[in-house]
Amino acid sequence: MACRQFDQAADAISLPEAIRDRTKYPRRCLAVSLPVRRVDGSVTVFEGYRVQHNLSTGPSKGGIRFHQHVTLGEVAALAMWMSWKTSLVGLPYGGAKGGVIVDPSLLSETELEHLSRRYMQEMVNFVGPHVDVPAPDVGTNEKIMGWMMDTYSNHVGHVEPAVVTGKPIALGGSQGRREATGAGVAYLVKKYLEDMKVPITKATVAIQGFGNVGSETAIALSRYGAKIIAISDVSGGIYNPKGIDITKALTYVRYQKMLHDFDGGEPISNEALLELKCTVLAPAALERVITDVNAPKLKCRLLAEAANGPTTNAADRILEKRGDIELIPDVLCNSGGVVVSYFEWLQNLSNYYWDRDEVMTKLFAILDKAKIAVDAQKKKFQFSRRLAALTLGIQRVADAKQSRGLFP
Ligand code: GLU
Repeated sequence: MACRQFDQAADAISLPEAIRDRTKYPRRCLAVSLPVRRVDGSVTVFEGYRVQHNLSTGPSKGGIRFHQHVTLGEVAALAMWMSWKTSLVGLPYGGAKGGVIVDPSLLSETELEHLSRRYMQEMVNFVGPHVDVPAPDVGTNEKIMGWMMDTYSNHVGHVEPAVVTGKPIALGGSQGRREATGAGVAYLVKKYLEDMKVPITKATVAIQGFGNVGSETAIALSRYGAKIIAISDVSGGIYNPKGIDITKALTYVRYQKMLHDFDGGEPISNEALLELKCTVLAPAALERVITDVNAPKLKCRLLAEAANGPTTNAADRILEKRGDIELIPDVLCNSGGVVVSYFEWLQNLSNYYWDRDEVMTKLFAILDKAKIAVDAQKKKFQFSRRLAALTLGIQRVADAKQSRGLFP
């Protein structure tokens, strides 16, 4: 899917053959076995990966995913999207992604810590503040980033906070990083609704996924005055046309771990949620949930891709043909996370820390600039908004590779 998107974008900007494959394929990847002693004394060997897609424009950057369905191909695709994302928003990074095949909810806290530390131990020679800087993704969080930072720092013999981002504040994490992705999604939704002349206070929102990104998107959008009518997680969804009390839902999930049986509305399946009539639909979980099967049935006006790769290429073609749904493509929509990761890295490297207002103001300025660039590209070449975003991201990486030349 990521490769086909690349091919289409490369064709659209007539990317010269000589630079195409260099820009398209991942630079390198590492696959590791991760033995972990379980609480019952047995040992389980987990499989982990890190793919560095592009290292031409700075250290590579991207999250680490802990999920039972992780594959090397998926991690490579996610790394590729990180390259276009960081390039699109003008960060001095390449793209990378990591993953471990594990359902973290089945591990004890100690097992999770051992797995996280073991993963970083295996990556020590492959990552670093000027080589590759991991961060959280699906199934990982700031606590895990803290363990990884500690493992790396112990190895190099001094405190090295800039080796990962999305850390706890106490270890050099940035103000605003936890909510950054969701806050960025909500900000862009607000901006696009303004363009569409839809008052946000009249907007209804359905969000698939209630992890870090989905829940922060819900909080930020409800603060802007939008009505969140549906939310969901792996255990199913909740629908309430009068609006869901997000604070109550968050408290429920904090204790129950899942949305299942939350009494803030009627139950709804994840599939039905995607087809709800609403102003904004935000898939905020995994890839490929909008397919050729449900794309003809979507009833939203704005599709905000809070997740990476939620729309298949076939679905994309259907939505384009329909022409009645505005799209905020993933590489723009969820870029707030990596933007504040960049701020965190800068703060770590300079040992000078910013307050939350400064972080948010700078985040929104970068998102505004990227939005304007994408919409100008869309208009200039009559591209879809996804093609506009991808071509901008890809062109910048290709230009950098071209300027660096080929060694030897
Ligand atoms: N995992 C996030 C993403 O897909 C954040 C990456 C980062 O902060 O480096 O964009």
